[in-house]
Amino acid sequence: MFEELLRRWDGEHAVVSYDAPSGTWMLVCIHSTKLGPAMGGTRMQVYAEPAEALEDGLRLAGGMTRKLAVVGLPCGGGKAVLAVPELPSGDERRRLLERYAELIDSLGGTFVTGPDVNTGEADMDVIGARTPHVFCRSVGNGGSGDPSIHTALGVFHGIRASLGRVFGSDDPAGRTVLVQGAGSVGAKLSGLLAETGANVLVSDVDEERARATGATTVAPEAALEAECDVYAPCALGATLSAESIPRLRCRIVAGAANNQLAEPEDGERLRAAGILYAPDYVINSGGALHGIGLERLGWDPERLEQEVAGIGDTLERVYTESEAEGIPTHEAAERLAAARLRR
Ligand code: NAD
Repeated sequence: MFEELLRRWDGEHAVVSYDAPSGTWMLVCIHSTKLGPAMGGTRMQVYAEPAEALEDGLRLAGGMTRKLAVVGLPCGGGKAVLAVPELPSGDERRRLLERYAELIDSLGGTFVTGPDVNTGEADMDVIGARTPHVFCRSVGNGGSGDPSIHTALGVFHGIRASLGRVFGSDDPAGRTVLVQGAGSVGAKLSGLLAETGANVLVSDVDEERARATGATTVAPEAALEAECDVYAPCALGATLSAESIPRLRCRIVAGAANNQLAEPEDGERLRAAGILYAPDYVINSGGALHGIGLERLGWDPERLEQEVAGIGDTLERVYTESEAEGIPTHEAAERLAAARLRR
């Protein structure tokens, strides 16, 4: 199964290591180093089969190449997966991360990692004690800390660009935006929107979190069908599908969640329904700009703010290409990324 997955893959190489003390498969997938060292988060997850973990890593690594290329970062794409028998904690977790850090270090900077599903700042600190090839450590340990404010800010700029395209004005004042998920990104996004006079609706399975934003709350099961100008998915992926798209009552989908399209055809379904879709990996790239920009590229906070605002300009280019070519926006984004990689 590993052989077949690797044979079909269009990436550069994958490093596979079995960590016997913890029973963890460590899978570092380096998709492309054409534009610079491969950057990508480390996901820690329980999988039914190691091959499923490798499949996830290979696919996500390709996504990172596209994401970093389309926003113009001088970086390649990669992803690492730690396929654990169960999520570890305490000393067991620390020792696993230390062994993993040695693996990353042995790659000599070809792959640089950060947080992803089930890993965070504290884990990056442990990794960072053994290798410099890490970003998003805590501020106290010399890192750039939680990137979610810049993810939210990037989504905010992306919403503005999308409003401009659909309504002829990018002013959120008086527009209704439904934010699905009031977590790290969604709560900050709802605050940014409220400050500009938008009418913000927030939905979260954790009702207390939704209420804490101070916005009008919407029950989770009613979120997709809520009438709004912008639907901003900031919780789960795959909320846009053949089943859900006909139920949407918005003109724009622009949010932070990863992998919003359940299948690629959903991009065309949205276009056919007259809904403008901000490709997820473009609009949610503020977090990557934060970690990579501040820690790897030596940006100061002003430069970071400018680059995050540039997410709106990148979306403009995506929308222009999509209109000119008559293709869904996610395909237009892929073409822009591919053009950069060909240069
Ligand atoms: P988070 O875990 O802090 O917040 C997610 C929120 O969604 C939680 O409050 C959870 O209760 C809620 N939720 C879960 N299922 C829901 C449902 N069915 N309906 C409504 N709410 C639901 O996550 P986050 O860091 O805010 O990230 C949000 C999304 O953005 C994720 O998909 C993440 O992968 C993506 N993303 C985050 C960043 C970042 O900087 N944090 C960067 C890029 C992409």
